[in-house]
Amino acid sequence: MFELWTEAVRSIEPLVKPAHRDLWLRPIECVGIDDGRIRLRAPNRYHKEWFEDNFLPSILKDLETRANRVFTVDFEVVEEDAVSAGHVAAGSYRPAASVVGLPAMAPAPDLVSRYTFDKFVVGPTNQFAHAAARMVAEAPASRWNPLFIYGGVGLGKTHLLQAIGHEIHRQHPEWLITFVTCEKFVTDFIGSIRRSSGTSMEDFRARYRTAPDVLLVDDIQFLSNKDSSQDEFFHTYNALHYAHKQIVLTSDKLPAELPGVEDRLRSRFTWGLIAEVETPDLETRVAILKRKAEAEKVNLPDEVALYLAAHLKTNVRELEGALLRLAARASFHGQAISIEVARDALAKMFASAPTGLTIETIQREVAGYFDVKLHDMKGPKRHRAIAHPRMVAMYLARKLTKMSFPEIGGRFGGKDHSTVISAVRKIERLCGEDPTVRSVVGTLEGRLRQP
Ligand code: ADP
Ligand code: MG
Repeated sequence: MFELWTEAVRSIEPLVKPAHRDLWLRPIECVGIDDGRIRLRAPNRYHKEWFEDNFLPSILKDLETRANRVFTVDFEVVEEDAVSAGHVAAGSYRPAASVVGLPAMAPAPDLVSRYTFDKFVVGPTNQFAHAAARMVAEAPASRWNPLFIYGGVGLGKTHLLQAIGHEIHRQHPEWLITFVTCEKFVTDFIGSIRRSSGTSMEDFRARYRTAPDVLLVDDIQFLSNKDSSQDEFFHTYNALHYAHKQIVLTSDKLPAELPGVEDRLRSRFTWGLIAEVETPDLETRVAILKRKAEAEKVNLPDEVALYLAAHLKTNVRELEGALLRLAARASFHGQAISIEVARDALAKMFASAPTGLTIETIQREVAGYFDVKLHDMKGPKRHRAIAHPRMVAMYLARKLTKMSFPEIGGRFGGKDHSTVISAVRKIERLCGEDPTVRSVVGTLEGRLRQP
C-alpha cells in the first residue's frame, strides 16, 4: 500500500525543482494507508501547510486515479508544541545531529566580545533598530524573521548583529549560532564548488543550511551580481526559514535598492522586519564617545567630547577612531587630552582627507563653468539654466566635503535638506544616464580635486 504513495509522489517529482524535492517532498513521511485514509507525518506545521498547499493536491489526484477511489488525509506534526510555542527547540528538530550525538553545549559563536547590547548607546536614530534586535534576541524566529538591519557605514549594524548573537547564546547555550560575513559565505561557497578549501558542497550545506539554529549574515549587499552565490543563499535562506530558524541580515541598502539581486531574494528580505540605523545626533555621539573613553580608560573631558562629536558627524567608527588616536597622541606626549590637543589632532586628520575643499570654492568653480552668477546659484531662481548648476554644485559639495545635507542647504541660501538630497540623487542618476552630464561633472570634480 505504501508503494501507492511513493509512486504518486514520484509522479510529481519531475514537476518540482530538485532543491524543492529535497526540502519539501522528502521530509514528508507516509506512516500508514488503510481504508481510504492516508496518514502523513511532517516535521513541523509550516512544512505541513506548505506541502498541503503546493504538492498534496497533485499527489492525491495521481493516487486517486491509480487506486480508483477517494482518500482522506490525516497529518501528524512532529514539532507541534515547539512551533506553536514560538520557536523550534534546537536538538529536537535535528534528527541527523542527534544520531551523531550532538553535545548539549554548542560552541560559542565567533563574535567580537565587545559587540554586546550593553555597550550599544541608544539614541533616537538607532532606537528602532536596537529595539528590533532586542526583540529578536528575546524570542528568536517567533515573529520577525528575517530581521533586516540597514544603514550607512560605521553606524552600528555589525555591532547590533553580533549583539543578537551574544544574547541568544547567553539564553540558549545549546544552540548553534552561525555568524558569517556575506563575503565569507561567498568564498566558502566557491571553495566548496572547487573543493579548493578542502570542504565539499555537503560540508558547506551542513554548515549553513542544516546546522545553524540562528544565522547572522553581515553585509548581504555583497551578493550583488553574484548569481550562483545568490542561488545558494536562496536555498540556505529557505531551508532555515522554513525550519523556523532565525535569520538576521545587515545591508548598506534597502532590499528594493540592492542592485543585481534577484527579485525572489529581495522579496524574502522583506518578509520579516526592516530596521534602519541612521547617523546619531549630537547627544548620542557624545554619549558614544564617553562610553568608549570609559571602556578604554581614557580621561576625556566633556568639552573635548563635545568638540569631537560636533566635528565628526557621519560615522561612529570615525568618531571612535579619532578618540583613540587622540588618546594615543596625548599619552605619547605625556599630555592630558584637551581642546588644543583635540583641535590639533583633528586638523591633521582633515588634512589627510582627500580634499580640504570649501563649499565656496566649489560654488565659485561651478558658477564659473556654467557662467551663472554666484548669488543666483544661491538664490531662489528655478529655471533650468540656474537650477542645473546649483544641483551640480550641491552634488559636488556632498561628494567632496564632509558637510551634511542640512549644512549644504544652508549654504545655498537656506534651502531645505530634502532639496539637497534630491539634487544629489538627480545628478547621480544623470551621471549614470547622460554622458554629457557625466563628463561635465567629471571635469569639475577633477579641477576641484587638484591641490
Ligand atoms: P557598521 O557595521 O554599520 O558599518 P559597526 O557596527 O562596525 O558599523 O560600528 C562601527 C563602530 O562603531 C564599532 O566599533 C561599534 O561598536 C561602534 N558603534 C556604532 N554605533 C554605536 C552605538 N550606538 N553605540 C556604541 N558603539 C557604536
Ligand atoms: Mg559592518
